[in-house]
Amino acid sequence: MKQLLYILTFLFAIISCQSQNGSVLKNETMEKITAASTKTDAQWKAELTREQYHVLREKGTERAFTGEYWNTFEEGKYVCAACSQKIFNSDSKFESDCGWPSFDKAIEGSVVYVIDNSYGMSRTEVICSNCKGHLGHIFDDGPKETTGDRFCMNSVSIKFIPAKK
Ligand SMILES: [Zn+2]
Repeated sequence: MKQLLYILTFLFAIISCQSQNGSVLKNETMEKITAASTKTDAQWKAELTREQYHVLREKGTERAFTGEYWNTFEEGKYVCAACSQKIFNSDSKFESDCGWPSFDKAIEGSVVYVIDNSYGMSRTEVICSNCKGHLGHIFDDGPKETTGDRFCMNSVSIKFIPAKK
């Protein structure tokens, strides 16, 4: 019995040690991304709305079917809401029933991918390559006839600029 207890304690120590390593790694990644950002945290807080700050800087997610662009299909371009870098053309937007604006392709060089293991899921986060703001996640269940990718974005992270008529 004493031996079993010893083994259990040992196993527990390994598990908690690993999860600690995981969070340390994640914090380091976060710090690097924040450091590479074009502005300080105070500047972002002053420039962005509360909701934009929460999603772009704190990696929040807006509720499905509540964003401005989930059901918008006009011609134009979508830029980063924080730094105005062009991220998507409207022709890469497709109708998806997920409740968030979905695209099958980003403009080359406009985004960076980061492994995101938060909330017990293994996902790939999409951030703006210029200001490092959080835009959303990318999944592989997009339209098969094009890229197969689904960029699942937050409306507050992007801004739509209609094409000039
Ligand atoms: Zn940006």
